[in-house]
Amino acid sequence: KKIIIAIDGKSSCGKSTMAKQLARELGYVYVDSGAMYRAITLYFLRNNVDITEGSQVKDALEEIELDFRLNEQRGEVEIFLNDENVEYLIREMIVAEKVSEVAALEAVRNFAVNQQQKMGKLKGVIMDGRDIGTVVFPHAELKLFLTADNAVRVERRFRELYQKNPNITIEEVAHNIEMRDYIDANREISPLRKADDAIEINNTHLTQEEQLHKALELANG
Ligand code: C5P
Repeated sequence: KKIIIAIDGKSSCGKSTMAKQLARELGYVYVDSGAMYRAITLYFLRNNVDITEGSQVKDALEEIELDFRLNEQRGEVEIFLNDENVEYLIREMIVAEKVSEVAALEAVRNFAVNQQQKMGKLKGVIMDGRDIGTVVFPHAELKLFLTADNAVRVERRFRELYQKNPNITIEEVAHNIEMRDYIDANREISPLRKADDAIEINNTHLTQEEQLHKALELANG
């Protein structure tokens, strides 16, 4: 039986959809590592932390406590920042615009990765992100690397965000995804990479069911 499943890929390539479904099927815990970087970013924004000042970043991180709690009704875990449920706030554009810069900071990555590795001690974890198969869990039993055409990724994210904010434009979403892809793939520390032993799934032309089926085969195989 597989214990840790790592799912990596660019923004909006369907990682969290797959990870959630897979976790439900296998009875594993799903951990959204991106939510941690987003929650840290929310804290930095609220407290005007100047990310070019190492000491401000360090002091701020000392004030941050993140945890995931199960929402029994939804059957999904939600992220809490210092005991406040921020699962929905962190999805807003204002956070998306800043998160990749914050996630490129060494102190921030050390903070997040440390906590992620502790969560890996749980039995049966599926974690999605950018560096899970390469850095957080290099010995994960199964590593998946998801890809999808740019236009498809933009369209999916736009539909998701539009439900909550009808003022959002597709250009805005396209620009944000392009910017995050660029920063995430080109930063110095833990840039987005496919691990050598990760299995690539291009889901551009797959339905959610087909994608899940593929992943389940790999997980059970
Ligand atoms: O997965 P999500 O799109 O919510 O992640 C938000 C941002 O957090 C990414 O664009 C990336 O900058 C950062 N991130 C990261 N490493 C991870 C997960 C997310 O750097 N493992």
